[in-house]
Amino acid sequence: MHHFHYQNGQLYCEGVPVKAIAAKVGTPFYLYSAATLSHHYQVFDRAFEGFPHIVCFAVKAKANLAILRLLARLGAGADIVSGGELYRALQAEMDPGKIVYSGVGKRPEEIRAALKAGILLFNIESSQELGEINRIAGRMHLKARVGLRINPDIDPQTHPYISTGLKKNKFGIDLERALEDYRRAMELPHLEVMGVACHIGSQITEVTPFVDALERLKELIQRLAKMDINIRYLDLGGGLGIQYDRETPPHPQEYGQVLLRGLEGLDCRLILEPGRVLAGNAGILVTKVLYTKESTTKNFIIVDAGMNDLARPSLYGSYHGIWPVAIRERPLIKASLVGPICESGDFLAKDREMPAMQPGELVAAMSAGAYGFSMSSNYNARPRVAEILVQDQDFYVIRKRETHRQLIWGESIPEFLK
Ligand SMILES: *Cc1c(COP(=O)(O)O)cnc(C)c1O
Repeated sequence: MHHFHYQNGQLYCEGVPVKAIAAKVGTPFYLYSAATLSHHYQVFDRAFEGFPHIVCFAVKAKANLAILRLLARLGAGADIVSGGELYRALQAEMDPGKIVYSGVGKRPEEIRAALKAGILLFNIESSQELGEINRIAGRMHLKARVGLRINPDIDPQTHPYISTGLKKNKFGIDLERALEDYRRAMELPHLEVMGVACHIGSQITEVTPFVDALERLKELIQRLAKMDINIRYLDLGGGLGIQYDRETPPHPQEYGQVLLRGLEGLDCRLILEPGRVLAGNAGILVTKVLYTKESTTKNFIIVDAGMNDLARPSLYGSYHGIWPVAIRERPLIKASLVGPICESGDFLAKDREMPAMQPGELVAAMSAGAYGFSMSSNYNARPRVAEILVQDQDFYVIRKRETHRQLIWGESIPEFLK
C-alpha cells in the first residue's frame, strides 16, 4: 500500500499534486510519502507483536536525516554499516541503544565512535574483527556488546549481487567455524557476547529462505547454550522483498507469522533489519522528458534523470514502473527511457511498452525509495537531486539540490599548476 495515486488524471503524493512540487523545485527530484513510510513501519512492527523485538531500519537503503527522524519517532532503531551512517543516525537522534552495526570492514575509528555512542550491538563478521573490537574496547575501558554474523549458506533466490548468505559471499562467519569463534570471543575480556545474526540477501520474495536461516541459527543457539553461552539477541537481518513489477513477495504479516512460529520457545529478543520493505515503495523519482527520438530500430525517451541518480536499473537490470505524471489519451509505444549520461547502461526502463511521451512532460520512476538516492553519485559532474517529503497537504525539501560549487568542494589546484 502506498500513497501515490491519480486524481483527475494527475499523479498525487498524498494530498499534493506532483506537478506542483516540480514547478517549485525543478526536476529531477526524489519524492517520499511520510504516510506510506509510517504505515510500512507500523505494519512491519505489528507483524512481530507478542515477541520482544527491535526493528532496526537499514540506513543504507535511505539515509536522509528527516526519514531517519520520522522512523525514530515511530520507535525504530538503525542497522548501520559505517561510521558515516552512525553519524547520520545520531544526528537524527536515533536511540544508540537500538543501533546495530554490521559490515565486513569496520575501521578502528568507526569502532571507537560506535563504542563511544554506546550502540546496542556489533555484528562481527570475522575472527580478526573480534580481536580488533576487543583491543579497542580494552583501550577505552569498556566492554563491547557483540554478536557474530553467521553465514548460514542459504540461497535466497535473488539477484547474485544482493545475495549475501551463501558460502561464496564475503559476509559473515561460516557455521562450521562459528563455535570456535564463539569460544574465542568468550575468552576475550573486553567483549560481552550476546548475539547471533544473519542477513541472507535482499529483495527476497519467498519465506522459505528466512525460515531455513532461522532453523540453522536456532540449532546454533542450542549448541551455544550447551557451552554456557547465553544468546540474548537473535538478529535475522533484513531482505524482505517488495513489488516492483510482478513479484509476489510475502506480506510482512505473513513473514512475521512464519518467523514467530519458528521462534516459539526461544528466550531472547529478536532484531530485524528491514530496509527496502519500509522505504522502497514510499518514494519515487520524478524526472522530465527532454527529447524523444526514433532511431531506425528503437524509440528513445530522453529524460533529465540518469543512472547517477537511480543506479538500480543499470546495476542490477532492475525494474521500476514508469508512470506519466499526467494521464491522457495516447498510444502505447515500445521505448527505452534513458538518461543524459554518456554510458549505454544509462537507462531507467529498457524496451518497454509505455505511453508515447512529449518533451517537457513529467514522468515518475516508481518504487525508488530504497537504494535510490542513497546509491546516487555525481558521475558526469551531475549535482545530486533534491529530496522532498510530503506529509498530507504539505511538502518539505529534506535535501536541497546540489550546486555546481558543491561539486568541486574540497578540490584544489596544486602550486605547480598555478
Ligand atoms: C542491506 C542490509 C539490510 C537491509 O536489506 P533490505 O533488503 O533492504 O531489507 C539489512 N541488514 C544488513 C546487514 C544489510 O547489509
